[in-house]
Order: sequence, then structure tokens, then C-alpha cells
Amino acid sequence: MGRATHQARQLLHTFPEQKTMQAVVLVKLANGTVDFEGITNYSYGSGAHVELELMQMLNTHYGDIGNLPQQSTIIFAAKWSPCKQCTEELIPDFLRRSNLVARGIRIKFRFEDYYLSDTYPNPNASQKHLWPSQDAANTAYSAISNGYPIYRQMNYIFRDEDNTVTDKVSRHVVFAAAHVNRTSEFETWHL
Ligand SMILES: [Zn+2]
Repeated sequence: MGRATHQARQLLHTFPEQKTMQAVVLVKLANGTVDFEGITNYSYGSGAHVELELMQMLNTHYGDIGNLPQQSTIIFAAKWSPCKQCTEELIPDFLRRSNLVARGIRIKFRFEDYYLSDTYPNPNASQKHLWPSQDAANTAYSAISNGYPIYRQMNYIFRDEDNTVTDKVSRHVVFAAAHVNRTSEFETWHL
């Protein structure tokens, strides 16, 4: 896990209560320094989804989402993974407005638990926001991530015996559980 992601998670855990909607955002510049940190919690926020609260903080701090620093990494770390509504509407809109490919920006959504109907502890949570399964969440997250070009491709491995290449692929947009150490993926194909 990168240092900035580690820092974001430490900030996240300043909340003693782990059954709420706490979330943080951290902006890491290309030189590794942290340029901005924001923290929110559903219970003291406006009642908007935590992702929206954090995006509004970024918008206020930088004047516009389109002004996020070039070559930066934006890390959202949350207790719960993005809900259905945020995944379908809010996040795609944010990604589009950030102009991330032209500006060389990476955006990572790290979370501790999947926001599923059978794991989220509040029985009053709206079913229209909860995911029916981890697979359903991952499918939607991957569709967004794969909609953007690869950010970096490295560690080319060629295997004679089955004529395959394996590259380590980093994406512009990453959704990953917090316990996943590396957010790059390995992709193998036959020549
Ligand atoms: Zn949401």
C-alpha cells in the first residue's frame, strides 16, 4: 500500500465508531507531498453521501474539480464501498469533470467493507443504494475503471513455454478494498 493510502486510512480511523459512514479524501502531488486532506462523516455532514461531501470539499479548495493538480493522485478512503447511486451517477460525473486523462490524474476509491445488504449494519438503509452482492459491486466498479485508458504498463514478462506476456497494469481509476496491497493488476495474454 502506498504511503498516501496508509495516511488516508489512519485519518479514517481517527473515528472511534466503525459502523458509520466516515470517509476521507487525500490529494497527493507528483512529488509525494500531501496537498489536501478532507474528512467527513454522514452523522455530522449535511446528510449527503460522504463521497459527495468530499467532492464538494475538493471543488471548494481547488475552485473547480477541473483544477485538481496535474499528475496528482486523489485517494478516497471510506469505511464502506461506493453505493449504487454514487457508482452510477456521482462518480462518473466527477471523473468526467476532473479531466483525469489529459491531466495525468489517478483517482482511487479504497474501502474497508463492501456496501452490501447483508453486511451493512443499519437495517433502515435504502435498498436502492445497497449492492445485492460483492460481485455486482465489482462488476460496476470494473466497468468504470476499464472505461479509462491504462495509466502505466510495466514489468513485461514473456514466457516461452506458452507464448504469453504478462504486464503489470496501473489504471487511472481504481476501486479496491483497503486490504488489497497493490492496486495494479497483472494482465496476461497469448501472442
Ligand atoms: Zn453513495
